[in-house]
Amino acid sequence: MIAVPRPPAADPLAAFTEDEVRACVDYAKPRQRWGLAGYGTDLLVLAALALTGPGRAVVRGVAGLAGTWAPGRVVLATLAVLAVRAGVGLPFSIRAFRQDARAGLATQGLGGFLRDWAKGRAVGLVLTVLPLAALVLGARWQPPGWPLVAAAVAALLVLALAVAGPVLIEPLFNRFSPLDPGPLRARLLELAATMRVPVGDVLVADASRRTTRVNAYVSGLGRTRRVVVYDTLLAAAGPRPPDGSSSGSDEVTLVVAHELAHVRHRDVLWGTVGAAALAAVSVLAAIALFDLAPVQRALGVTGLGDPLAAPGLLLLAAVGGLAAAPVASAISRWAEARADWVALEVTRDPATAVAVERRLALENRADLRPNRLLMVMFASHPTTMARIAQAWHWAERH
Ligand SMILES: [Zn+2]
Repeated sequence: MIAVPRPPAADPLAAFTEDEVRACVDYAKPRQRWGLAGYGTDLLVLAALALTGPGRAVVRGVAGLAGTWAPGRVVLATLAVLAVRAGVGLPFSIRAFRQDARAGLATQGLGGFLRDWAKGRAVGLVLTVLPLAALVLGARWQPPGWPLVAAAVAALLVLALAVAGPVLIEPLFNRFSPLDPGPLRARLLELAATMRVPVGDVLVADASRRTTRVNAYVSGLGRTRRVVVYDTLLAAAGPRPPDGSSSGSDEVTLVVAHELAHVRHRDVLWGTVGAAALAAVSVLAAIALFDLAPVQRALGVTGLGDPLAAPGLLLLAAVGGLAAAPVASAISRWAEARADWVALEVTRDPATAVAVERRLALENRADLRPNRLLMVMFASHPTTMARIAQAWHWAERH
């Protein structure tokens, strides 16, 4: 276990001009407010569908199209909830897209955005309807080993998705190609060797067809594991300028060092194992809760095997997700701080680390004056100024 210093966030004016801070905050705050409004609306809609007479009548009406055939009723009830949620969420998504377009962050038109949105909803639909229908129908028919078999299936499903996601789902949204041979590729593979991280390939995603935002990530497990860099991040990668300031290729190297640190500390593996365990526990909790008479009364169902259990299950999942968010995001922030620190230790280049944070913040319009409560609840990464403070801390130590 390495000690990861996490000094308090510095003042944004220590690394950004007043104009830069204002431009970022003016973009980030309304987006956040509307994001929260969308999230709250989604929860309210779910609650209305699960807990109120008129909401349940809508779901029952749609499910009724399948007559008394239980599997059809389960699937239609779930589709009804997802369709209402998608319809209510769409204006919020379009608003976010329009803000990106105004800020010059979107590189596609509304049509392209809607196609991507529909693809995302379709993937979510398949990944919700199938497991949810399996759970409800399983509860109806009680196969041998129930409910442990349900928990095991849920955990296995999460693991399978982590392995298959990069090859089945990610290509639906982006094209990936190996980073072209050349000095940058050689430098990154050398970096991987130094960090003793076996990496088959560094892939470039064609994110520029959608956005000007810059990003990189690692995903997949075992043979599907990959480091992915947005082509937008590579756009400025060139040689070091004569004044010695950090170059584009130094920045890419630092970002990739951060991603390789995730690989080295198995962050994706542990994140997946945690998610699988959480899925198993959630299924057992749902089965136990649906056995309670007050829960059945509140949701207007006869039990988990009720074909109309979908709205209640999805509401429980949403509330559970909200309750788990602070824990999950705290763990994520810790892993991100560790990856940042490892990247500093490997590259020994805090100036580039600060340059990267500045670039990420400016190009992605990060919230440079974040709300503390929102950070605690939802932030997957430390704030820009906490990450910059950490780089300065490393520089002071060396
Ligand atoms: Zn990271």
